[in-house]
Amino acid sequence: MKSYADHLADCRTLLFPRAVTRVAVAGSLGLTLAENVVAAADSPTFASSAMDGYAVRVQDVPGSLAVVGEVAAGHVPDVPVAEGTAVRIMTGSAIPEGAEAVVPVEDTDERDGRVTVRVATTPQRHIRPAGDDVRAGDVVLRAGQVIAPAQLAALLTIGAATVSVHPAARVAVLSTGDELVEAGRTPGPAQLVDSNGPALAAAATAAGADVVHVGRLPDAPDALVEAIESLPACDLVVTSGGISMGAYDVVKSALAPLGLVFEQVAIQPGKPQGWGRFPGGPAFLGLPGNPVSALVSFELFGRAALGRERPTLRATLATRVARNAGDKRQFLRGRLDGDRVHVDGGPGSHLVAGLAAADCLLVVPEGAKVLEEGSPVSVIPL
Ligand code: AMP
Ligand code: MG
Repeated sequence: MKSYADHLADCRTLLFPRAVTRVAVAGSLGLTLAENVVAAADSPTFASSAMDGYAVRVQDVPGSLAVVGEVAAGHVPDVPVAEGTAVRIMTGSAIPEGAEAVVPVEDTDERDGRVTVRVATTPQRHIRPAGDDVRAGDVVLRAGQVIAPAQLAALLTIGAATVSVHPAARVAVLSTGDELVEAGRTPGPAQLVDSNGPALAAAATAAGADVVHVGRLPDAPDALVEAIESLPACDLVVTSGGISMGAYDVVKSALAPLGLVFEQVAIQPGKPQGWGRFPGGPAFLGLPGNPVSALVSFELFGRAALGRERPTLRATLATRVARNAGDKRQFLRGRLDGDRVHVDGGPGSHLVAGLAAADCLLVVPEGAKVLEEGSPVSVIPL
């Protein structure tokens, strides 16, 4: 049987090399940076006040000073601070020439054009210097980082207009099985609602992909090949079902002759796995049909293909775990409580509600028979 690590390594290569393009920063949310972002200039670009108060010279306070002007955010100061004077200043305003510190308004009293400063200060107190955050030439963001709101803010702050990114991968999702009915319809006897299609589409979207097609196919090899040939242009086709040992496992029987690979991977859930590349076409991930297996497989291998692997964290086992998955790596449904992890629900691959109640996968290493309460374990937060 293929090891988990080997299969993960294969899936990581599926979409490489990835396309690179430049986009406007405003349209970059959710994309992955293809290059480091280097600051062209210092940021902030000017020294500003961290408080509402008075811009003063250090040796003039405490004392009584003539208020010679005012500066608000967005305005260039038009009066310097000279000996014996102060300028009223608002948070974020540029520091006037000659000022050495800002005294917060709470430490002052202003009356009749003069301000009494009750406290002493030190040079640069309550002043945010230019270049405080970033220096010209600093690497602000690194290749591989996903642009989330904070990264967007940093890019806009340093004045970047465009960024080099990997465009979102285009993913098609196909469910297979004669037993499936479309979500929203009532299944007849021996039928099931297709939950994998919408769930895998949602998982792909959450992993930053553009889902371009979601479809449902009967257990007929010709229909499958035809559906794949007529898909809209995409980078990755994800199927569910039809890859185990049964008589109607059409994904495997239809696609293996095209050179796609079907293997047994030493994990539970999700032992049967398909992967590869259609000749001259998109990459392929054939996931097992059981809903938990399909989603867990996507979290592990689909995300690896998309370059969006979830981080693995360390946690402490809150309950003893005995198991019989032999040489397989097991991914149990877990619930985190601080740094302690509880096992939640059974390991069965059909227990979707159990997966929905979990907030992490608890990784039980290959060969482990019993994990005692209090043992350190790895978890993958979902
Ligand atoms: P298969 O791998 O095709 O034999 O499917 C394994 C199990 O998963 C069967 O019980 C199927 O009915 C179920 N299954 C397969 N595809 C789906 C799907 N799209 N939605 C929900 N259950 C499914
Ligand atoms: Mg099936």
